[in-house]
Amino acid sequence: MNKAIIAMDKSGSFRVYLAVTTGMVEEARQIHDTTPLATAAMGRVLTAAGLMGLMMKSPQDKLTMQFKGDGPAREILATANGNGQVKGYISNPHVDLPLKPNGKLDVGGAVGIGTVTVIKDLGLKEPYVGRIELVNGEIAEDLTAYFFVSEQQSSSVALGVRIDTDLTVAAAGGMIIQMLPGADPASVDALEQLIGDMTPISTLVEQVTRESSGKTGEAVVRELLRRIFATLPEEFAVEAMEIREIGWKCDCCEERLEQALMSIGATDLKTILDEDGSAELTCQFCRKKYQFDGAHLQKLLDEMT
Ligand SMILES: [Zn+2]
Repeated sequence: MNKAIIAMDKSGSFRVYLAVTTGMVEEARQIHDTTPLATAAMGRVLTAAGLMGLMMKSPQDKLTMQFKGDGPAREILATANGNGQVKGYISNPHVDLPLKPNGKLDVGGAVGIGTVTVIKDLGLKEPYVGRIELVNGEIAEDLTAYFFVSEQQSSSVALGVRIDTDLTVAAAGGMIIQMLPGADPASVDALEQLIGDMTPISTLVEQVTRESSGKTGEAVVRELLRRIFATLPEEFAVEAMEIREIGWKCDCCEERLEQALMSIGATDLKTILDEDGSAELTCQFCRKKYQFDGAHLQKLLDEMT
């Protein structure tokens, strides 16, 4: 199941982007054949990128989020557009580390020390690029810091992926609470308490999905929203504004991989043609294979020279 909901509180102090991404993260797990630790790390990044994609104004806007650290996961990259279409990969899909003392998957250890970079292509001349040092590599805290430092935006990010005993994804989801200009200071205090006491989001997603079996994704995200914010004072009651789609989608095509082949330069392409006679390229996002036979490579070479 995948679905997102955008909401705002009555006083106009904050906005909420909340998503269930169980289906999307499970699809990514199957494509990349990830270990539970890699599933959790990549799933958090995919969910966050999807939510930040929904924060952009136009469906054509594109966002790229890259976590790069010195840990064994190496790089985790996700891209999303304003329509909630998300794709991504992890450099080391088989990363594995002992559980943390609290029994949780050690995503911070897998990512290590490094940076998070966010690139937003909003159809302007230059893309917007923001980069900060990672706080702890656990993804959610890193992005909370990113919003504060790079976008001067006070936000709170929660992300969670729960792995089933058969190593598939039992539940995944995320939430970004974004404070709005002129927010009532009392709402900040109320939210701090709410977040401090909040059940992990993956647990909530699992509970609500199970209890709502047979209901639509929309019913699930509405109930999830209600449950998370149920304890807020009446003046900050949260109201749903929009139901949005979110999910896995790779938009790769032969033309894009032709571009990749041509970008290596005529000399190297000629070498491949002479020595191998053909080329096979794999989309790094969806693992689809593209074959280029000798005639095809020759055609690309002719276009270049
Ligand atoms: Zn692809």
